[in-house]
Amino acid sequence: MIAKDLPWLEPQQALLRASYAAGRLAHAFLIHEARGAGGDVLASWAAQLVLCTDLAHAPCGACAGCRRAATSQHPDLMTLQLMDESRQIRIEQVRELSAELALTSHQGGYKVAIISPADALNRAAANALLKTLEEPTARTLLILVATQPSRLPATILSRCQKIRVRAPARSEAVAWLQSIRGPAEWGATLDVLGDAPLFALEADPKTVVEFARETRRILEETSGGRADPAATAERWWRTDLPLRLLCIENWLTDRIRRHFAGGAFSVEMSAPVHLQRAAQFPSIRNLFGIMDAVQDLKSSLDAPLNRALALEGLLRRLAAE
Ligand SMILES: [Zn+2]
Repeated sequence: MIAKDLPWLEPQQALLRASYAAGRLAHAFLIHEARGAGGDVLASWAAQLVLCTDLAHAPCGACAGCRRAATSQHPDLMTLQLMDESRQIRIEQVRELSAELALTSHQGGYKVAIISPADALNRAAANALLKTLEEPTARTLLILVATQPSRLPATILSRCQKIRVRAPARSEAVAWLQSIRGPAEWGATLDVLGDAPLFALEADPKTVVEFARETRRILEETSGGRADPAATAERWWRTDLPLRLLCIENWLTDRIRRHFAGGAFSVEMSAPVHLQRAAQFPSIRNLFGIMDAVQDLKSSLDAPLNRALALEGLLRRLAAE
């Protein structure tokens, strides 16, 4: 995926191109991206901008500089990512990066470092990075990509120029997905995955939509006491748990919305009807409680815990309504 394929990145590209042409390019950027909206694509494009050897048309996309940068094989481009199963970027990785940035470039031009996801820098790593940000060497470009920049220390944020990458409007995302992958239930796919066009691009829309429908059906049955939590949990924890949790989250959000909409509506009704209606809804406290349990499970997906048991507990709370 290259930046010219993502039309919603055009304003950000125009800004970077103009700053670069005017010799006013900041030495550090923070790309604050919406999930799956292309922050990494923009970072790679910015690297190509300064590593392109065709100055009049940078980034030309055709020269050796552009092509190597696009495939992360340029000797003056470093990328810091999560290693293996780790959820954090560690201080050793930042130290290595800083040492590399302090050297002169191989090609006599810019040196570029991309850190993504930058919100995975742990505290020690962020502090180590601060030194590099405070004393930048000439012609270095540091690009941080984060969906949750608030998790970074303010000292880091204040030293980066911010670029916001928002998800395109739903209709634009659907048109874009259709132009690349052809017609499918893209709207429904984005309903499940959130407005994250790049995630949708990688997904099989039919499978995602079907998966969400099945999850919804079984949750309704569970909440009505017509499905066995233990059997469901046993089936669910084995395959695609992250997507399942996303579907559960969507269903809960929908239930919570309906709860409030119903509450507002019932004010208009007489007290006995109100009570009768209220009894039909799961309690809002319980819904929020289950939502918390989903979040806990989501954030501990790589921890050694009994997922079947955690899922079963969650479903039992729903069945208890
Ligand atoms: Zn080029």
